[in-house]
Amino acid sequence: MAQDIWDHPQTAYEETYASGIQKKELKNHGFTIKDQVGGLDTAFVAEFGQGRPIIGILGEYDALPGLSQTVSPTKKEAEPNGPGHGCGHNLLGTAGVEAVVALKEKMEEEGLAGTIRYYGCPAEEVLSGKTHMAKSGVFDDLDSALTWHPMTRNASMDVSMQSMVSIKFHFKGKPAHAAASPEAGRSALDSVEMMNMGVNYLREHVPDGTRMHYTITDGGLAPNIVPEKASVWYFLRGSSKEEVEGILHRVQNIAKGAALMNETEVESEIIGFPYETLPNDPLNELMYHNMLESAPLEYTEEEQAFVEELAHSLPTAGKPFEELLPTSISFNPYQPGVSMPGSTDVGDVSWITPTGTITTTCAPVGTALHSWQATAVFGTQVGYKGMHLAASSMALTAYDLLINKDDVLEKAKETFKQLRDGKEYQAGI
Ligand SMILES: [Zn+2]
Repeated sequence: MAQDIWDHPQTAYEETYASGIQKKELKNHGFTIKDQVGGLDTAFVAEFGQGRPIIGILGEYDALPGLSQTVSPTKKEAEPNGPGHGCGHNLLGTAGVEAVVALKEKMEEEGLAGTIRYYGCPAEEVLSGKTHMAKSGVFDDLDSALTWHPMTRNASMDVSMQSMVSIKFHFKGKPAHAAASPEAGRSALDSVEMMNMGVNYLREHVPDGTRMHYTITDGGLAPNIVPEKASVWYFLRGSSKEEVEGILHRVQNIAKGAALMNETEVESEIIGFPYETLPNDPLNELMYHNMLESAPLEYTEEEQAFVEELAHSLPTAGKPFEELLPTSISFNPYQPGVSMPGSTDVGDVSWITPTGTITTTCAPVGTALHSWQATAVFGTQVGYKGMHLAASSMALTAYDLLINKDDVLEKAKETFKQLRDGKEYQAGI
């Protein structure tokens, strides 16, 4: 399934192939399918069992534009400018399917009570799929959720990822002949440039760890026409949604100021606004222990050769193989209290129900997610082995949650309550 999805990459909200084969497989295994969740064509929930607890496993399957690559240790597109699985979501969702199918067999064997769900979540890469699903309430009755991400090490992700707003600003001015009557024109592109300058001055006056990046998505048509329309797309990230809301307020004022300066108009649209993730210690610890209980990673000579050759294009080139593909498992290798640069819509789910997350070794150290090297290795046994380790850890953990081993559900909920600190979840779009 992971190979099949890798072979048929589709980008955000268009993942008909991946969601289709997953639904079919889960249906064949006796799961009930709820389709079109949150009004999204490629979102679904597959369910088995009855009563509480209700345990969810989150899957993703969207690819990235422009990251097409063959299974080759050197750069070689499969399709010019085509999409590719440079974030390994072909593995991410499939591990979830694998985990719930295994779990269902075990539940039947032991006559276990409780409900398990697989959440087919589209469009993680544009950070909004789970927000739309959350708005429809599908995560509300969960007792806990589990997920993972392909990475370059085996670890629990006991760290918070940043909240982020994805927002587009559209300026509208007045067109004019740029040489014959420039005085009649009001350049929307000038507004965009002045806005960007304002934001670049703001950089010094935002909390540490803030990230602000943009691309100009529309800069006009030709130099001899004063641009009537221009657009700029911003990602603003911070350690919490509240912090990002503060930064967003200031950036919106800068946009208004830029429009005022040269008499244009501005409108904005929020594309996605996920929360920061709330790392749940009791769940992460349990997932870590269950990763230790799972079959360890082992590689063949062929896989070793592939990875060593791929590493020629990585900053880790020449490192010994054991350091390139670590098989060790660590609890929390991240810096406590510091949020990890990068964002995910898993943040929203982690504000609705206790959520545990792990990463496994699916690519050599030095591989950046969203690169051709990542696409290449996520289509090989190296990726699939990491995927099976993740599936095993999630299935074992979901089993422990179903039997509420050592009152883990209560502990997870207590941690969740403390982290949320009395605040209610509100969808950012
Ligand atoms: Zn990803």
